[in-house]
Amino acid sequence: ELADTDGFVAKQRHWQAGQPVPYASLVATFTQIEATSKRTEITTHLTAFFLLVIRLSPQELLKTVYLCINRLCPDYVGLELGIGESILEKAIAESTGRSLAKIKADLRKEGDLGLVAMMSRNTQPTMFKPKPLTVSSVFGKLTEIAKVAGNSSQSKKIGIIKSLLAASVDTEAKFIIRSLEGKLRIRLAERTVLVAVAWAMVLRDLGPKMRSKEQLTIELEEGANVVKSVYSELPSYEHVIPALLEGGIVGLRERCKLTPGIPLKPMLAKPTKAIGEVLDRFEGKQFTCEYKYDGERAQVHRSEDGSVKIFSRNSEDMSAKYPDIIEQLPKVSCIMYIPLGLCHGNQCIQADTSSFVLDAEAVAVERDTGKLLPFQELSRRKRKDVKAEDVQVKVCLFAFDLLYLNGQPLLHTDLASRRQLLHKSFQPIAGEFSFAQSSDGSSTEEIQAFLDQSVKDGCEGLMVKMLESDASFYEPSRRSVNWLKLKKDYLSGIGDSLDLVVVGAYHGHGKRTAVYGAFLLACYDSESEQFQVICKIGTGFSDEALQHHYTLLRESEIDVMRSDIAAGQAKPDVWFTPKVVWEVLAADLSLSPVYTAAQGLVEERGISLRFPRFIRVRDDKAPEDATSPEQIAEMYEKQALTQSKGSKRRRGE
Ligand code: ATP
Repeated sequence: ELADTDGFVAKQRHWQAGQPVPYASLVATFTQIEATSKRTEITTHLTAFFLLVIRLSPQELLKTVYLCINRLCPDYVGLELGIGESILEKAIAESTGRSLAKIKADLRKEGDLGLVAMMSRNTQPTMFKPKPLTVSSVFGKLTEIAKVAGNSSQSKKIGIIKSLLAASVDTEAKFIIRSLEGKLRIRLAERTVLVAVAWAMVLRDLGPKMRSKEQLTIELEEGANVVKSVYSELPSYEHVIPALLEGGIVGLRERCKLTPGIPLKPMLAKPTKAIGEVLDRFEGKQFTCEYKYDGERAQVHRSEDGSVKIFSRNSEDMSAKYPDIIEQLPKVSCIMYIPLGLCHGNQCIQADTSSFVLDAEAVAVERDTGKLLPFQELSRRKRKDVKAEDVQVKVCLFAFDLLYLNGQPLLHTDLASRRQLLHKSFQPIAGEFSFAQSSDGSSTEEIQAFLDQSVKDGCEGLMVKMLESDASFYEPSRRSVNWLKLKKDYLSGIGDSLDLVVVGAYHGHGKRTAVYGAFLLACYDSESEQFQVICKIGTGFSDEALQHHYTLLRESEIDVMRSDIAAGQAKPDVWFTPKVVWEVLAADLSLSPVYTAAQGLVEERGISLRFPRFIRVRDDKAPEDATSPEQIAEMYEKQALTQSKGSKRRRGE
């Protein structure tokens, strides 16, 4: 299937070995990808292109990959694309000599500013041929735009965008604008990009050696698995791409390991509705229950050089929010033991603190008593420029896992040993640093009592985790069946809350006339990069909250629905750029001809929420982190199973 590569090379006349990658070649690949919805075809096109980059201009692979995933750096650096629509409209108008009104009218018709830019650019007479854009020059300008700050930043940004548009030909303007908007809209999920990088590396290293189709399939699959797993441990293209270019896939796991300072995507849990479900899952296995604290996830990294960083669930650097935690860490980690294999018998050797990665929850607590306070209290804390001495909302760190200690990753160590090391290596301080409360009791009664106690103590319920064997290894970025969450409040509902994106709204009536009265919510499908609508919600809001949401969401109103929203039969009065994520509860899930969530997963119809109720804003989640169609289908199927068990029980079967 990659034979087509030669034809593709022929088209890239200006691209010679050692030269910069022409942006036109990347855009040609985007266009091929846009024309198909088949995942394997998308992966094949991208593999062919990466293989070319590796052969001709390997030094540009990193920037090429970044442009494919529409990012400029790792998440924790915090440099983001996503320029507001009005700036882009202005830049397109000024650069192509068209009026702003015409650009806006075209946008209303086309629903895609990229397309509008391309059409405006292509009907504009050009006096002389612009110097061709390269992947490197586009990446450089995008970075410049993202970094612009301070006075007259808007006009500076417009200036750079205009220079990019002026140099663009054919379809380039379309993708430049989409990159600036923060979405390429070609259904190119990051997972696919990782697989394509892996396949291209496997093919490079195979060279002209012949393989049977079966053998090749195995090698490609293995390569993809290695790259995906390495990236989940070390999510930094800046490390993984050069390592791949240098040594290929072989030995990559040894060369790229979890490194303090680079946050890994956290392990997540599956929801459960009943203690019986937990016991079914963990039958005959050693497991442990821990308090599920109601705070904010905090991954605490200490590097060999002593620097400490705290990262959020989304790998954002939160160190500036928690100077108090950073200050207290030396006190709690002053006694450190040499880990695992290096212990001689039971005699651990005491040594100086060097490096660690803790997985923990930061929870607001009452200053004098240390009593746990709900998440709402924590959300009152400032996010930036907090000074340790001015902290208003006091926080205690509850450590529940140790992922790295003194130079050694512990991801492939069982939880019982990780916990033992955690307890040995850190010293709790009341109200500041604590270990998560745990109980290893495994009877229904013991779990029920521990669940009740956790709620009395101000927690959301329990996390139940596999304790021994390789099933208890830490699985970065996975929502694993080896971690189950049991939330007290949700035992009677659908088992868990959902995190949904606000994509539209309905005008209010009566005393809600001045604000939105109800909202249209969607889940997110990363495979198709689509927001699939799931329900209309109008319950759970105070008048004050409605006013607040109105002020905030009005800024994201757009005239035309975005093309990445699968709207089904839903017809809200206004559409939004998907930005805001809400946590929502529901009585149950039902099949629906109106909504598109999880369409085709359970049946042709989509799934909707009955009696949805607003719980809170999830500003620690991006729209792409919203609940997925697969999770919704799983919840629906579980509900159907419970209902049929219930009716069997009632019928005495
Ligand atoms: P999800 O995407 O699973 O909905 P979430 O961020 O909404 O994630 P929950 O599903 O409610 O959170 O539960 C998992 C979260 O619970 C973790 O991300 C972590 O922040 C928190 N937590 C509290 N106590 C623990 C614990 N003992 N072990 C693991 N996680 C815990």
